[in-house]
Amino acid sequence: RYDFSGQVALITGAASGMGLTTAKAFAAAGAAVALADLNEEAVQTTTDALKAAGHKALGVVCDVSDEAQVAAMVENTVATFGRLDAAFNNAGIQVPPSDAADETAENFDRVNAVNLRGVWACMKHELRQMRVQGSGAIVNCSSLGGLVGLPSRAAYHASKHGVIGLTRSAALEYAPRGIRINAICPGTIDTPMVADMLTKQADAMKEIMRDQPIGRLGRSDEIADAVLWLCSSGSTFVIGHALAVDGGFTAH
Ligand code: NAD
Repeated sequence: RYDFSGQVALITGAASGMGLTTAKAFAAAGAAVALADLNEEAVQTTTDALKAAGHKALGVVCDVSDEAQVAAMVENTVATFGRLDAAFNNAGIQVPPSDAADETAENFDRVNAVNLRGVWACMKHELRQMRVQGSGAIVNCSSLGGLVGLPSRAAYHASKHGVIGLTRSAALEYAPRGIRINAICPGTIDTPMVADMLTKQADAMKEIMRDQPIGRLGRSDEIADAVLWLCSSGSTFVIGHALAVDGGFTAH
C-alpha cells in the first residue's frame, strides 16, 4: 500500500506490540529500518529475521528515558543508513492504576520519564538530523489517554496529554522547514501491554470495552497502517494533528 523505498525509518519500542508491527510494515514497504528497544534479545531476533528476509535492518538497544542513549540511537541509525526520513516514537509503559490522592511520585516520574521525556528526547535528536536534510516525518505515540481522562490513570494520562502538547508545538516550529510532526492516539489495542492489563485490571478493562463502539480490541496492524500513512506522501497537509485510531472510543 505504501512505498518507502530508499527511505529510512526509526521505531522505538520495536521489540513488541505496535512498534514491532510498525517496524515490519515499514520494512515491507521498502524502508531501511532501525529498531530500538530496551529488550536486547527480542530486538535482535526481529532484526535478524528482517535481514534474513532481505530487508535492511539495524537493532539498537536504547532506553528512551536516557537522553545520551537516545542521541547515540539516532547517530547509529544515520551512520548506518545515511539519513532519517520517518520516526515512530512509540516506546511506552503503564503504571498500576491509582487513586489520584494516593499516586506515588515514583510512579508519576517513571511513566513520565519514558512516555513523555522519552518522546521529547527522541524527537529532539531526530529533528537535529531532519533539519539538516530539510525533510522528514515524525509520529509520536500518545493514546486515547492523551485526549480524554479515565479514573485512576492520572499519571499515565498526564504523560500522554503531554505528548500531544510536545507534538503541536514542535509541529508549528518545524512545518516551515519541511518536517511534519503528528501524534497518534491508539485506543485499546491487542498487544502484550493490554494482555497484561486484561489479566491484572479485569474490571477496569470491562468498563473500557463497554465504551468501545466497534466492540472489539484494535489490532497492531491498524496502528501501523495509520503511522505509515502519517509518514507518507499521502498526508503532506497533515501537521500537528492528534489522530485517534480507537474504534470510536473518543467519539463519545
Ligand atoms: P508493548 O508493551 O507491547 O511494547 C512496548 C515496547 O516498548 C516493549 O518492547 C518495551 O520493551 C519497550 N520499552 C518500554 N520502555 C522502554 C524504554 N524506556 N526504552 C525503550 N523501549 C522501551 O506495548 P504496546 O501496547 O505496543 O504500546 C506501545 C505504545 O502505545 C506505548 O507508548 C503505549 O503507551 C501506547 N499505547 C498502547 C495502547 C494499547 O492499548 N496497547 C493504547 C494507547 C497507547
